[in-house]
Amino acid sequence: MAAPLTFASRALKVATLHEKERAIGPPFVELLGIARCIVAPVDTDRFGSFSGEVPRELEPRAAAEAKARAALAQFGGDLAIASEGSFVPYPPAPLLTLDEEWLVLVDVQSGRVHSHRYATLDAVFAGRRCTSMAALSSFVAEQPFPEHSFVLRPRERWSVGEPVFKGVVDPSAMRAHAETLLADYGELWIETDLRAHHNPTRMRAIAAAAQEFAVELATSCPSCVAAHFRVVRTVAGLPCAACGEPTELVRARVRGCDVCGEQRELPRADGRLEADPDSCGACNP
Ligand SMILES: [Zn+2]
Ligand SMILES: [Zn+2]
Repeated sequence: MAAPLTFASRALKVATLHEKERAIGPPFVELLGIARCIVAPVDTDRFGSFSGEVPRELEPRAAAEAKARAALAQFGGDLAIASEGSFVPYPPAPLLTLDEEWLVLVDVQSGRVHSHRYATLDAVFAGRRCTSMAALSSFVAEQPFPEHSFVLRPRERWSVGEPVFKGVVDPSAMRAHAETLLADYGELWIETDLRAHHNPTRMRAIAAAAQEFAVELATSCPSCVAAHFRVVRTVAGLPCAACGEPTELVRARVRGCDVCGEQRELPRADGRLEADPDSCGACNP
């Protein structure tokens, strides 16, 4: 798969205050021939923060695009990328948390906006209300600390004027903040810091998202050779291995071109041609 020349030798602005260039840069250089990744220190928190001081008003995809456009407006250039993550209950098992990462690439040269969604259940996301140091200690003992940092504040919902301690990674600093909050409010809320540079599990998710996105961008339209011949939908109906009836499982993916409208149906990426009879409505009603 030849990388389209669209992105070769260009400079890419990465809108981040949280070191996301470490995760996003390598696949874009390796797979798309980007010459340089330049950090654009946009105040991305003004589009909404995990710790609640700034409400999130845009949908995640729109927020990522707004950050990329802000990078171009403030720091110049013609190619910028940004990401936006959200942590949501996993619909089939709502006690599990899904880390959903959107990446948006704004290309001023072509006038195109490319986006990619990546989701993983590998997330370090937890919070608890505590009224004692013992409760705090038992919560922290359940978390991968100190590889991951914490946020402490008086209550789950932050209010204007209240303190918030972010990026807390040092046990003695955590104890001091917790004692202050318990003395002043009689309770505290502690949660995992979700900012990428404080949450290595999330940084890995962003790296995996960037790897997938770069592979997709490097896939050219077979008709007009434009970049990003992307998966636009999947088709169900993988035939049952026993009876041959179509199942609910994905049989094929359809890739489409946003430039010329070409569409092609392609087999599953994993090469599977048949479904296990366990997932067949005819064999296993
Ligand atoms: Zn095309
Ligand atoms: Zn069957």
